Parts: sequence; C-alpha cells; structure tokens
Amino acid sequence: MSESAANTPSGDATARIENVVIIGSGPAGWTAAVYAARARLDPLVIEGGPSREMIPGGQLMFTTDIENFPGFPEGVDGQKLMADMKTQAERFGTRVVTDDVVEVDTSVRPFRLVTRYSGEYFARSVILATGARANWLGLHNEERLAQSGGGVSACAVCDGALPAFRDQVLAVVGGGDSAMEEATYLTKFAREVVIVHRRDSFRASPIMAERALADPKIRVAWNSEVVDVLGDDFITGLRLRDTVTGAESTITVGGLFLAIGHTPNTGFLKGVVDLDDAGYVIPAEPWRTGTSVEGIFAAGDVMDAYYRQAVTAAGTGCMAALDAERWLAHGVEGTPHEIPAEPVASEPIAAESVAADS
Ligand code: NAP
Repeated sequence: MSESAANTPSGDATARIENVVIIGSGPAGWTAAVYAARARLDPLVIEGGPSREMIPGGQLMFTTDIENFPGFPEGVDGQKLMADMKTQAERFGTRVVTDDVVEVDTSVRPFRLVTRYSGEYFARSVILATGARANWLGLHNEERLAQSGGGVSACAVCDGALPAFRDQVLAVVGGGDSAMEEATYLTKFAREVVIVHRRDSFRASPIMAERALADPKIRVAWNSEVVDVLGDDFITGLRLRDTVTGAESTITVGGLFLAIGHTPNTGFLKGVVDLDDAGYVIPAEPWRTGTSVEGIFAAGDVMDAYYRQAVTAAGTGCMAALDAERWLAHGVEGTPHEIPAEPVASEPIAAESVAADS
C-alpha cells in the first residue's frame, strides 16, 4: 500500500472524499455553504445534533425577532432566518448531515472527521463554524423565559431595541466589558439599567467601567447575585442575594440581559488548530479565515469573541468559503480542484483515486 493510501484510514476503497465539509449550521456555516455550493464544491454541512445547550442553527434559534440583519425591514424570526439560510444552501446542492463532529484528524490528508453517530467523513478542506454559546446562570426560570421570548436574553445588541423593553428598568448581569457595553447600549431604550454584579469591583477595562458608572441611567447592584427570575409569561423582577451578607431582596425589572461571557464550541478542536486561552480559534493571519492548519478555515463566533453578530458571522462564512475555494484550487499539494459545470453528487471513489488525492 502506498503511503498515501495508508494515510486513508482503513484504506476504504468506497470512502468518499468531500471537497469541503462545513461543521456548524449558524449564519457562518450556511453562508459558507451557499458560497461553496455555488462555486460547485458540492459541500457537506455537518449541522450538529440537538443538545441541551445548542441546537442546529446555533444561537439565533434562541432569539425571537432579529431586527438588525439587513434585508428584513420588519425584522425576522431567528428560527425562520436559519431555516431560510439552510434552504438557500440546499437549493444549490448542499448536503446536510445532523450529527456532531467529535474528532478532526489532521495527521492524514484528506482530513478524517469522526462523528458521534454517523461514522467518518473525509475532507480535502474543512470550515469550522461551530459558533459559541452564551453562558447562562443556569436558573430554571431564566431558561424558561429565554426560550419563550419572555424578556430574558443573552444579547442586548440583538434584542435590546425590541418594543417590549422600551422605557423599562432593565437588568444586566456581569462585570466585564460586555456588561458595560450592553448596559450603556440599553440606556438608549430603557428608563433605567441596573448592573447586577457579584463582587464589589468590575473586571471591565477602566475606560468602559468609568463610562458606565458615569451614565445617569445606570446604577449598580454590587455584591449581588440573581437567585431567581420572576414572572409567568414575561419577566417582572429578580430575586437577588447579597454575596456578602446572604440577605435576599427583590427588584422589579422588565428585562434581563446576561453578559457573563461566552464559551466557544471548540472542545473537539483542542490540539487540532491553535486556540487562544478562552478557546477561540486563532486565525493564522488578520482578516483571513485560515487557521494554523492549512486547509482548515474558521468562520463566525468560533473565531470571533469581539463582534459576535449574525451578520458578521455570515460575512466571515463567505470569506471562509472563498478562502477554501482558492486553497482547493491552488493549495492541495499543487493539485487544482476541477470544478464541474453543474453541482453533482460526488461518486464513491476508488482506492487509487484516494491515493492520488492524498
Ligand atoms: P468576561 O470578561 O469574562 O466577564 C464576565 C463577567 O461575568 C465577569 O464580571 C464575571 O464576574 C461575571 N460572571 C461570570 N460568571 C458568572 C456567574 N455565573 N454569575 C454571575 N456573574 C458571572 O466576559 P465579557 O465581558 O463577555 O468579555 C469577554 C472578552 O471580550 C474580554 O476580553 C473583553 O475585554 C472583550 N470585550 C471587549 C469589548 C470592547 O472592547 N468593546 C466589549 C465586550 C467584550 P467576575 O468578575 O466576578 O469573575
């Protein structure tokens, strides 16, 4: 067996090699799929299985109205936007598998992707678009009201301008830059913003903390943690506990915004591509989507702890598909990828082709 063939796990003669596998199904993943499909790369999206924390479609599936995605003057439901993006990608021939990738093996070319349920996939290039998940407090009523559109959100920029929050007292939980930024942003709409922070000093950068503290519409509940979220269909208040004395109190609020950090969905990428200390994929070059492994690209919140918007994720999804297309055309050990005239379902390939491709 040649070295290349040996590199193809188990030398499976029927294994199909994908041009590009996109892992993840938020705005970054679907946009990458639309571009890759229209470039005749016949992409495969592995969209992720439903779990308690994440569902196919990503964070927008937990949002109701999205008012800041261009092209929807009346706003658009998050689930509908994701369903439409998927339909658009499928219209150009994107194939979709509902499963989780649990391992990316970069020691072989094509890359070997191991999934939880549906076995292995082989890919010349990979786009990582698994996103990040907002951290939540883990309270039952917080989760219930967040999922039902009951005034609990982990994204002030996404949801803060909704009519339900106008002229209300809104609470922001957290003491980092996000909490400062979100509290300041919410003052445009709110009557008052209460930052609920569990300590007596902020983690945020001084300039952002000072700006928030100087705002007459913002006050801080120091040394306070949320122990319950009140309200049946819509939030009406918070039960707080003083972290020093243990005393409990209730405040009336018309909205709750969590700003206690995000966790990128990169557990399966440790030791595969370079990640920063918080677990985000580090691009190999600024304003490019390539990672530390040639042929693996990243898009969306999985590589962006800063902007974290649906539209920026979609933008980097486009960039990743263009980067993958160019890389496939020029970068695979000098073998250009031949682009068929029409999108076609790739045929299973023979072992000799595997060897030639590797
Ligand atoms: P962060 O810096 O990790 O801050 C998270 C905050 O949430 C901390 O104050 C933490 O409290 C609090 N927290 C965490 N878990 C909690 C829990 N279970 N209950 C109550 N409070 C909890 O996260 P971030 O603010 O999202 O910022 C992430 C990164 O993005 C940072 O590097 C930040 O500088 C950057 N960022 C920059 C900008 C900007 O420059 N415009 C804007 C946003 C974010 P403790 O302090 O007690 O740990």
